[in-house]
Amino acid sequence: MVTQVRQEANVFQSAIQRLDLAAKHVDIAPETIDRLKRPKSLLEVSIPVRMDDGTLRVFTGYRCRHDDTRGPAKGGIRFHPDVSRAEVQALAFWMTCKCACVGIPFGGGKGGVIVNPKELSRLELERLSRGYMQQVADFVGPETDVPAPDVYTNATIMGWMMDEYSKINRKRTPGVITGKPIALGGSLGRDDATGRGAYYCIKEIEKRRKWNPKSIRVAVQGFGNAGQSVAKLLHADGYKIVAVSDSRGGICSDDGFDVPSLIKQKNESRKLQAVYCQGSVCELVPARSITNEELLELEVDLLLPAALENQISASNAGKIKASVMVELANGPTRIEADPILAERNVLVVPDILANAGGVTVSYFEWAQNRAGYYWSLEEVQEKLRKIMQAEFNAIYEIMEQIKTDMRTAAYVHALGRIGTALETQGTAEYFSGS
Ligand code: NAD
Repeated sequence: MVTQVRQEANVFQSAIQRLDLAAKHVDIAPETIDRLKRPKSLLEVSIPVRMDDGTLRVFTGYRCRHDDTRGPAKGGIRFHPDVSRAEVQALAFWMTCKCACVGIPFGGGKGGVIVNPKELSRLELERLSRGYMQQVADFVGPETDVPAPDVYTNATIMGWMMDEYSKINRKRTPGVITGKPIALGGSLGRDDATGRGAYYCIKEIEKRRKWNPKSIRVAVQGFGNAGQSVAKLLHADGYKIVAVSDSRGGICSDDGFDVPSLIKQKNESRKLQAVYCQGSVCELVPARSITNEELLELEVDLLLPAALENQISASNAGKIKASVMVELANGPTRIEADPILAERNVLVVPDILANAGGVTVSYFEWAQNRAGYYWSLEEVQEKLRKIMQAEFNAIYEIMEQIKTDMRTAAYVHALGRIGTALETQGTAEYFSGS
């Protein structure tokens, strides 16, 4: 038990260490860094759920508001057996940095429930989702803290939660949550926004490195929402997607996969299978089975971790062959792996930039809900492209100027914005009149 608590604490402690590394390059008051090392508030709730067989199960859930100086807290809700208090805090901290990194007016929040949703029926999942919202309804709101989907939660779940919040408050409040179904006030373009944001970053690297997509081999760890979207866009441009995986393991083919066929198969059968589909007929194609560990070490040019945290550590960072890694997952790289990757000249586009497309379109959704005026898909994608392109290039330039890695540069960029917001309220220097 003690070990578990210690390990839990490490996720958050390890996440905030990156602040100290970045602070060396920013003109920021030490008290500002101290403030960011602690979440503003953390709520733990018990959610009793009546199961289909009549029994009662009580689930544990969390909602953490890390910082809301730049705007309402913003961040997803995760349903996963490994959710913990420290993980939720780490994820909320990354959201504060991510929103600042891409310059959207939100702070950072995150929520989670300790559950394996695959074991629940649809009705049980609906009761759990509504039950979670009943417990956190005083804590969230369009002006305070705005949740969204994360691992193993989706648009349907967001729709249930929005409906529950609206019932509790006796007024329809679509702006309380983003990532909703379009029919309930969701934004066009939110479904593939995380993958698309990463794709826009990759297109900037393509220009800088003069890549020919056809000769670029790509491996994707985690073939869910984020992984599928980026793989689909890259495949359409001619990139060779040679390996993909999910929680049960992966498949690999030197010839590259037909990504739309893999997506169709995975979404219809819930199984990752090497197939080529024409219309509704799918045929198996030759491929090797690989483990998730093997996928990370494949001979590829571009590695896309799009699953969970802590996949790349000191023990496997030295074995990564890719020259570019774009982090769609939150926190896939442990802090000890960073210098090993830098030493090997692997360009790592960090999570707080690479996967910020999701929260950026969530911001668009929130803005549309509040205005009651909805945008076209082209408008959403164009606004997202402009933000991702500008922020990617700004961070790339900081990286070159201060001769550091791209992660530190992204934190420097984010800290500049968070620091300015916090410090306009006064620092020790201001109040002591010096
Ligand atoms: P998802 O639930 O749609 O997909 C997750 C995928 O990862 C699934 O295919 C699952 O089988 C697979 N997976 C789980 N454990 C794995 C393991 N150990 N090895 C390999 N694959 C594994 O979730 P998602 O929304 O695509 O999120 C994936 C990552 O992206 C998470 O880290 C999440 O925090 C991050 N992210 C998502 C969004 C978003 O908008 N969806 C935004 C920002 C960041």
